[in-house]
Amino acid sequence: MLGAVCVGMVVHVVHGGWAGTTLAPLELSESLRTVHQGVVTAGALLMVAAIAATAIYGRFFCGWGCHFLAVQDATTALLGRFGLGRERAPWRALRWAPVALVVYLYGWPLLPVLLGEVAWPGLHVQPAESAWGSFQTDDLWRSMPGVPVMVATFFVGAVALVAVAGPRAFCQTACPYGVFFAGADRLAPQRITLTGACSGCNRCSEACWSGVDVLGELRASGAVRNSACMRDLDCVAVCPTGAITLSRAPLQLRPARPAEVRAPWAEEALAALLVLGGFLAFRGLYAAIPVLMALPAAVLVAVVTLRALGLRGGAAVAPTGKGTLPLRLAALSLLAFTAHSGLVRLHEARAQTAELAARAGDPSDLAEAIAEWEAARDLGVYAPTTLRSRLADLYLRRGDRRAAVAELRAVVDADPGDEGARRALAAVEGASADQGAEHPYAE
Ligand code: SF4
Ligand code: SF4
Repeated sequence: MLGAVCVGMVVHVVHGGWAGTTLAPLELSESLRTVHQGVVTAGALLMVAAIAATAIYGRFFCGWGCHFLAVQDATTALLGRFGLGRERAPWRALRWAPVALVVYLYGWPLLPVLLGEVAWPGLHVQPAESAWGSFQTDDLWRSMPGVPVMVATFFVGAVALVAVAGPRAFCQTACPYGVFFAGADRLAPQRITLTGACSGCNRCSEACWSGVDVLGELRASGAVRNSACMRDLDCVAVCPTGAITLSRAPLQLRPARPAEVRAPWAEEALAALLVLGGFLAFRGLYAAIPVLMALPAAVLVAVVTLRALGLRGGAAVAPTGKGTLPLRLAALSLLAFTAHSGLVRLHEARAQTAELAARAGDPSDLAEAIAEWEAARDLGVYAPTTLRSRLADLYLRRGDRRAAVAELRAVVDADPGDEGARRALAAVEGASADQGAEHPYAE
C-alpha cells in the first residue's frame, strides 16, 4: 500500500509539471488553514477522511500510508543489522509533547476567536488557483519548506530520533497528526484480538515496533487497546500458535491495561523542561526550522541528555562501558548547540517585536530592531537572506544606504534568482548615485 502511495505522489508531481495546474498538495498541515481561517483545503479533507477511517478500522493510515513511518521503519531495520536502535525512551512526558504541539498549533491561534475578539470567517473555498488553500494549484510545493529543510526534517525525525529513542519514536513523541489518529483509534472496533490458544511466548510483543506490550494487552482485556497500534499485523505474523487475529472487539473506552513502569516525576519534569527549551530554541530558527523538525530535534536532545545523566526512566543507572564518554560528549555538544540556537532565536524574536513597533513609527524601536537583527546575523551559524532583506529595509528607514546596499548585495550573492532583492539593490544604488552619495562599491 505504501508503494501505491509513493506511485500516487510521483503521478501527482508529474501531472503538476506537465499540466501546470494540478490537485493541491494533500498535506495534513493544510488543515491548520481550515481550523484557523475556515479555508477548506484538500489536506483538511484527507485528514477528516483518515480520522473517520481510523475510527472504524484503526490506525491503518499511519501503518500503511505514511511515508514518514516508512523511513522510520527503514531506519530501524538498518540499525537492527548492527544491533542498534531498539532502546526506547521511557519518559511519558515525551509522549505528551505532540499533544502540547496540537494545542499550540490548532488551539492557541483560535484563542481570540474563542474569546469573541475576532470573528471566525466560516468554512469557504479559495477559488483562485494561485490562492493559498485552493483545491487546484499552480504551485504544488506551496506548503513545503524547500528541499534542504525537508531532507533535514526527515533526517532528524525519521533517522536520528529513531536511532536514539527507538522504533517509531517520531510517531510517539513528535507527530501532531498522530494525536488525532490515536484519539479516533479508541473507537475502532477492528483490533488485534485473542481468538485462539496463547502459549505466552511473548513473541508478539517482541515483534511490535510500536512498543506495544501485546501479550499484556491481550491478558488485560482480550485485545490490543493501545492506540499506538498501527495494525501492521507483525504480531499476527509471528504468533506461532495463530492465537491472534484482526477482528471485531467490544468497545471499551476505559479498558484494563497492562501495568507500566513509571519514571520518577523529577525525571519526567526534566524531560519536559528539556523538550520545551529545545523547542523554543529551534522553532522558527533562521526563519527556516518548521515545528515538525523543531520538536523531534528537541526530543532528541532531551533523550541523549537524560541518558548521559544515567537516567533510564526509573532506575538511575550510571552509564558504563565504552559508550559512556561518547554519550556525554554528544549530550554536551547537543546542549551547547541548543543553547546557541536559543540565543540566536531570542535575538530574532526580540527583533521581530521591535520591528513591529518600529513600523508604527517609534525611532527607538527602529534602533532596537536593527541591533537585534544584527546580533542574530553575527551570532548565527549563517545569516538567512530573509534576515538580510529585513535588515536592509530597516537600514533604509534609518537613511543608511551604505549598510542597506551591503545587505542587499549579500542577498543577491547568496540567491542570484531573488528578483525582489535585485530590484531593491538597483533602486538603492541608483538613488545613491542620483544624490551624489558615496557609492559603496565605487572603485
Ligand atoms: S505488531 Fe501488532 S500490536 Fe504492534 S503495531 Fe503491529 S499490529 Fe499493532
Ligand atoms: S505470539 Fe501468540 S502465542 Fe506468543 S504470546 Fe503472543 S499471542 Fe501468545
